[in-house]
Amino acid sequence: MEKKKSESLKSTLQRCALCGRRCGADRLGGARGVCGGGTLPKVARWLPHMGEEPPLVGTEGSGALFFSGCSLRCLFCQNYAISQLGQGREIPIEGLAEIMLELQESGCHNINLVSPTHYAPQIALAVESAKRLGLAIPVVYNTHGYDTPEALSWMAGKADIYLADVKYAGNEQAERFSGITEYSNVNQEALRVMFSQVGHFREDPKTGLGARGLMVRILILPDKIEGAKESLLRLKREFSADLCVSLMAQYVPLYKATRVPSLNRVIRKDEYEEVADYAEALGFTRLWCQEPAAAQVGIPDFSADVPFSF
Ligand code: SF4
Repeated sequence: MEKKKSESLKSTLQRCALCGRRCGADRLGGARGVCGGGTLPKVARWLPHMGEEPPLVGTEGSGALFFSGCSLRCLFCQNYAISQLGQGREIPIEGLAEIMLELQESGCHNINLVSPTHYAPQIALAVESAKRLGLAIPVVYNTHGYDTPEALSWMAGKADIYLADVKYAGNEQAERFSGITEYSNVNQEALRVMFSQVGHFREDPKTGLGARGLMVRILILPDKIEGAKESLLRLKREFSADLCVSLMAQYVPLYKATRVPSLNRVIRKDEYEEVADYAEALGFTRLWCQEPAAAQVGIPDFSADVPFSF
């Protein structure tokens, strides 16, 4: 690693501000923030994944790398075994680059970095190294959207596609359900930075597969459809109705969500359709929708050899 990059990595990790918590943990000195991230990236699984949006999955799957830990504490997290219980193992940056090349070799259409925020610098260096060794497929940064501009600056020129959540329209729910403050402000600024780097989502005209750009995922929570609609309106004002939006129907009350009455059910078809109709009425045409019942089948089991059932 070049001296300048190595110093930059050290200074980032010595006073970490990669996510909206900006907790300042000295990760190099052994301290850990809520995310649990240290100096080496910790990875739970890597595999061809068929559970993303069609232009990312194609016929051979998206090459998913699931990172351990997360700076959010979502009560309903589907991946809590890795995000909050910390399953996984630490891998050196060169090892991470090799995994990316392995996923490309197996036919995956892209490299899909799932929950990358707290390892953005190490991932950026791994992507750089993998590209030097022949990585040619797009790199997808698949995030909760609580990234700071500092984290995203590491990914400039490395991420081809940003797949970013908008989980909540307001800060109050974010605090209650994910234990974080200022989600809306951090999330909106993150989307602006992502968009400035890659623009609107576009496919390769020859293959129909995602090549570059921003795709925003809106999580629809039970009884919170007004929030999803508010997010759509805000996104249209900021980025226009040309923005590519994916409406997530897969909410299932898992982990600690069963203890919260308003979260303890799946979303109804009519709720989902109300949000989808609203998006269409706003003029969004680049819209990915799911069948609520089908979407709720894909809950992962990270203790199994094959964590996904599709
Ligand atoms: S990524 Fe982790 S260590 Fe860094 S600011 Fe967020 S919680 Fe703190």
